[in-house]
Amino acid sequence: MVEMPELRTEREFLRVSIDTSGEEVSIEEQRAANIRDAASRRTELHPDPYRDTGSISHHARKPRAGDWERMIADIRADRFGADGLRLWESSRAYRTMADTVLLLDLLRERRIWLTITTHDRVYNPCNWRDRKSLLEDAIDNESESAKTSDRTLRSVAARAEKGRPHGRLPFGYRAVYDSDTGKLIRREPRDDEADLLREAYRRIAQGHTLYMIVNDWEKRGAFTRSGVPWKTTNLGKALVRTTYAGIRQHDPGWMEVNGQRNPTARARRTEATWEPIVDRDLWLRVRAILNRPERRHNAGSRIAHEFTGVIGCVPCTSGLRVNKSHGNLVYRCHDCRGVQIRKEDTDEVVTAVLFGYMSQPAVYNRTFHSRDSAAALSAAQLALAEAERELEELRTLGETRQLTAVTVARMEPPLVAEVQRLGAVVDGLDTPDEIWSMLPPGRDIEARWGEAAVSTRHTVAKRVLTPRYAGRPMVGLSTKKGFTSQPAIDRIVWHQEPAPETA
Ligand SMILES: [Zn+2]
Repeated sequence: MVEMPELRTEREFLRVSIDTSGEEVSIEEQRAANIRDAASRRTELHPDPYRDTGSISHHARKPRAGDWERMIADIRADRFGADGLRLWESSRAYRTMADTVLLLDLLRERRIWLTITTHDRVYNPCNWRDRKSLLEDAIDNESESAKTSDRTLRSVAARAEKGRPHGRLPFGYRAVYDSDTGKLIRREPRDDEADLLREAYRRIAQGHTLYMIVNDWEKRGAFTRSGVPWKTTNLGKALVRTTYAGIRQHDPGWMEVNGQRNPTARARRTEATWEPIVDRDLWLRVRAILNRPERRHNAGSRIAHEFTGVIGCVPCTSGLRVNKSHGNLVYRCHDCRGVQIRKEDTDEVVTAVLFGYMSQPAVYNRTFHSRDSAAALSAAQLALAEAERELEELRTLGETRQLTAVTVARMEPPLVAEVQRLGAVVDGLDTPDEIWSMLPPGRDIEARWGEAAVSTRHTVAKRVLTPRYAGRPMVGLSTKKGFTSQPAIDRIVWHQEPAPETA
């Protein structure tokens, strides 16, 4: 049996749960009960109790650092300043089993008693029977806390199912309240803001960029609700919100990271009770444009050469850029500056391979050129991106200790499996449908290539000249003196993926 010091002073940990059971006991009420109980045991209470006013449950959406962390740190650093820890009730202290185990281990290690007022008992953390009963208690609390959380989530879900508004009022809407009861009656479009949004949808559909729009808005003095100019990222995020299409989204798995709600693949959608800002077709069209992968990168920059960035540098794998050198155009690596090659000779080699690939019956007869598969691909890409983001957020919450390692370990494997599954779905669907519709492959590709706009050729080349399809041309260093003396064909190697097995 381990020797415990005498229990003379206790330090309290006080916490109010914000659950809806209606049986809350305030910090002051807890204190009063603690003082009475301590007096009856002739123990002294530390003048500075730990107070945590955040929500107790790890099911709570906003994990917050509070006095719990301070207390753990103090015990670790031998700054606790008392012989015992006093809790009013065990369920008011631990958020998770991992927290419980951590606390009990620390108390045992530092020989600190644990008193629980409502149990009318002093526990010795070095005694295995005491430890066992505290752990069992924590298991009961955890299941209770999960039940409460389920109940709260269910009522939010029920409201969502009815399509009623929930949460902050988005840009473009105003709330209408009943003048007698003060209750929210409905959400309706607010003309000034809604008109801005409609303008943005219309212009994006017409090919305007987010940049052009926010630029105009800033000149016109059309700002966000916080009175600052719109940024392209804010506007892009706003326009893809389901709210504006009159779709109510309920997402039981959303997490708040850096003050921002992030949807997950588990989101469910229902028709909303509020008026949409734009019709569903326009919204879908704009969302498809904004989600297009090539838009995310170098959006707005004008492409003067179809193979810019497409042909790679062997030493550093960067994409080569086009420059002028002594009156001739050359491809040059701007990263390692090691590679330079004449553009004309290189284009000849690259286009020959590209045309060869795109005029193969095996390529243009493939049956995947349906619009359905394009829609399925974009849905799968979206779900994959969301699952990846969710996984990343979970890991971040673990790293910043907002979630315990145990919780992360429990939640991670199914998410990893989901990311892998969606990745496989995307790979299976990932065909250049969109590209094929811009410039379909066929025997006459060479003629049509010549007629197509540079931007179209660039988009197609960027997609087709990849390891997955025709292969990526990579230019190596010249083995001869002067970059023009070795023929281009000898310096180009093709990075290619092994052909996929046909299912
Ligand atoms: Zn390079």
